[in-house]
Amino acid sequence: MARFRCSFCRTPEKPWGIEFEADFPQCPRCHAQGLAVVIPVVKVHFYAPDSQGPIVGAGGRHYRVACSPAFTNPNGIPCTGLPSAVTCEACMRTQEFHKAEDLQAELTGGILLE
Ligand SMILES: [Zn+2]
Ligand SMILES: [Zn+2]
Repeated sequence: MARFRCSFCRTPEKPWGIEFEADFPQCPRCHAQGLAVVIPVVKVHFYAPDSQGPIVGAGGRHYRVACSPAFTNPNGIPCTGLPSAVTCEACMRTQEFHKAEDLQAELTGGILLE
């Protein structure tokens, strides 16, 4: 299973196109297929700050991958500490992610840029 985005099927909530999981790039809604329209989406995981975390980042801070706490070598899988860049749904469901999301909203004064 891979994750794809259909650039034909845009909604107000998904201005870049709806996302879905499938074995091959064909949109379940409009049935469009082909990589020019149906674009593979890279899963970006969230680095949750964790003093016991196995991953050591800048400044000697410890982190873990939010959806896979046992994961010790993040090389090769995309990860970010920036909540708005996360696309992994399992990571998005974690408490740490919600906390960081709130914090990011606070830092930007709650103003979301279009
Ligand atoms: Zn579609
Ligand atoms: Zn994840």
